[in-house]
Formats: sequence, structure tokens, C-alpha cells
Amino acid sequence: MIDNPIASDYTTIAVLNTEEGLALVGSSALSLDKRVRENLVSTEKEAKGTKGQHAEEKVIQLAKEEKLSPTEIGASRPICLDCEELLEENNILTKTKFSGKKSKKRQ
Ligand SMILES: [Zn+2]
Repeated sequence: MIDNPIASDYTTIAVLNTEEGLALVGSSALSLDKRVRENLVSTEKEAKGTKGQHAEEKVIQLAKEEKLSPTEIGASRPICLDCEELLEENNILTKTKFSGKKSKKRQ
């Protein structure tokens, strides 16, 4: 998913894997790009969240709502400082780089 070329420059896509085998997919846009949504398989679920939330926040929030156990997250852009802290709090691993900065615009 994360290597998908349509994960465009300005929209962050995050994929959160869970112990339960369901992968949660979210974007920094209000909803997933139609072409991304159409490519979701049965073990993947869209995390909708609310406006202004980061992709990472949306997938982690959905995992909590669904009482899933997150294991690892991947994002299409470097993870901001706020989300990095969120990952630490929830013991979620990632191979994505951290930006080490707060996000300038919360979108
Ligand atoms: Zn973030």
C-alpha cells in the first residue's frame, strides 16, 4: 500500500498493522483517495477520523475504537513530532523516518 504511487506528495497515507491481522488505512485528507479506497482488500479498513487529524492519528484512533492491538505503522511521509509521541505512548513500531518537527499545518 505504502509504495503505491498514488500516495501523493501532499497527502499522507498511513497504514497501521494490528495483532488481529486487520490493517487500518488512513489519509491526512478528509477521506481516502477514491483510487486508494478501491484498492483496499478485505483485511484493510479505512480510518476516517475528523478534519485536521493526521493520518497516523486516524488509524491509531480507529484501532482503539475497534479494540485492536496496533503493532507497526508505516506512513508515506516522515512522521511529525506529535505523532512520534503518540507511537511511543502506544508502543507502535515503525520503519518510517521521523521529521523530528511539529507539523506546520495540521491537515
Ligand atoms: Zn503527525
